[in-house]
Amino acid sequence: MEILWAPWRLSYVQKVTESKGSGCFICDAFNDSPENDKKNLLLHRGKKALVILNRFPYNTAHLMICPVRHTGDFETLLPEEMAEIDELLKKSIRVIRRAYNPDGFNVGLNLGKPSGGSHDTHIHYHIVPRWNGDTNFMPIIGGVKVIPQSLEETYDILKKFWSDND
Ligand SMILES: [Zn+2]
Repeated sequence: MEILWAPWRLSYVQKVTESKGSGCFICDAFNDSPENDKKNLLLHRGKKALVILNRFPYNTAHLMICPVRHTGDFETLLPEEMAEIDELLKKSIRVIRRAYNPDGFNVGLNLGKPSGGSHDTHIHYHIVPRWNGDTNFMPIIGGVKVIPQSLEETYDILKKFWSDND
């Protein structure tokens, strides 16, 4: 997939080459200082689960909900992890709805590489808001997708609505 106007790609490449992290961007973001949450696009730190913006979004405000624990094995998720993930799924949908007023959502899980998952060692639910008339995002006709808002702007807007809202 080709993405037009993606200014965050350069900083991503720089970060990857500089990074001495664990090899898991979800764990790296959570284990980094909270001061770096915006840089890491970490929207919410929970006890058992977290919310992070997708750095390569299919649409504006594409979020990922993950257990804090590094695991790719869905069947090992504990009841308290599932419970917090469920709460964060609900809250994420509510926050995106208030901030962006989408017409719908795609919510789901890719388990394993053949499913389309690109990072299969740490479970993450995708939440992708959809608007009537937006491009179908799974197969993108012509292979081009335009994201109209920078990740930093999206982060600031979601963070404000997230904090306003319990
Ligand atoms: Zn991880």
